[in-house]
Amino acid sequence: MSKKNRKTKFIIELGLSHIKIKSIKIDEFGDYHIYVSCMATKTVCHKCGKTITNVHGHCEETVIEHLPILEQRVFIHVKWPRFKCSDCDNNPTTSFRPPWLSGNGQQTIPYEDYCLKWLINSTIKDVADKLKTTEEVIEAILSRRVNTEINWNLLSPTRIGIDEIALRKGHNQYLTIISDISISHQVKILAVIKGRKHEDIFPFLNSIPRDKLLSLESITIDMSASYFPALKKILNDDNTFNRIVTIDRFHVAKLLGDKVDKERKKVVKQLKIEFENNETKLNNIKQTMWPFRHHEKNLGVDEQIRLNYLFEMSPSLKECYDLRESLFNIFELKISKELAEKKIDEWIKSTEGYVTKGHNPFTSFIKTYKFYKSHILNYFSHRSSSGPVEGLNNKIKVIKRRGYGFRNIMNFARRIFLDINLKHIFMPTF
Ligand SMILES: [Zn+2]
Repeated sequence: MSKKNRKTKFIIELGLSHIKIKSIKIDEFGDYHIYVSCMATKTVCHKCGKTITNVHGHCEETVIEHLPILEQRVFIHVKWPRFKCSDCDNNPTTSFRPPWLSGNGQQTIPYEDYCLKWLINSTIKDVADKLKTTEEVIEAILSRRVNTEINWNLLSPTRIGIDEIALRKGHNQYLTIISDISISHQVKILAVIKGRKHEDIFPFLNSIPRDKLLSLESITIDMSASYFPALKKILNDDNTFNRIVTIDRFHVAKLLGDKVDKERKKVVKQLKIEFENNETKLNNIKQTMWPFRHHEKNLGVDEQIRLNYLFEMSPSLKECYDLRESLFNIFELKISKELAEKKIDEWIKSTEGYVTKGHNPFTSFIKTYKFYKSHILNYFSHRSSSGPVEGLNNKIKVIKRRGYGFRNIMNFARRIFLDINLKHIFMPTF
């Protein structure tokens, strides 16, 4: 080798204990085959658990994939030594396993970590293609390494969010996502459950240790009928139930928003008929849906202008919009539960003046509010909201689009746990 070439070489530490390199071969694909001998002098008997040191032959050669070097795959070839136990009957042998070997013995743990890091926000097929391995290998790593069982000993959430997502619209396929929302920017998934009925969610709720359940500050839910009875049964105490079960403020806002939006559609339809020969006015009506749906404080200048045109044509729609915003603004205030109740009662009175052709869009909302009142007002006691969970739902929808659906719920759950709970482990900078 020339002097020049020698300067472009450097030494790489494999970072693996108990082995010593014997030789290295490069195959026709440029991949590395590293032949090693095992330096272990002892292991633990698989029967009695004692340390054993009597070497008794070697296993067949195994090939273990390790982290790539300069994008070339790396395979470690090794024959693990076997040790014999003189204390157990029939002197069973146990083969040596280093701590860096993965569960199936065919990859190193650092290689598995590497695959999982690639898998975050990606698909199994994509990762398999890029790492020149198979989907089965990546899938097996995912199921070996990502555990969806919660260890309650390690958790003490103060706030839990329960939310549903529709997997296939119109097919009645729902998932219930239960998450720890104690720290809003560090949401953790606790469970991914198939279905949203009482019997679907009850087993998980029932698995939460009683002391952890009672020390919760809030359980934030939507108005879904099944969550209420399930929680009532689990908590088994009306005071606790009334204190901690909270209707998420975003669901309250959405309920009202939808009713008010119906009113907008009705008004816009009428205006389009009324001004069918007035091009300027028709233009002004266009593109008002999003400005109308957005909250006032988030409006851009253009959006505000378009909205103002619409409101000039329909002052009653402006009134409707203002009423929606004034309720939203009550939820933005840092006030006590009692004061919030008073302000919302005043707001209800103020909606009575809203007159429209046909029905009042606030009537049915107010009926729902009154039914869930104390649980809606609980928001003001601790300001717990599953707003962060809504963001989570978007992430989940992305995972769903990447190819996991209702049929393989276990793998779907593993993907959610990997992308959300374990992301910081495999991608510590994010
Ligand atoms: Zn033994």
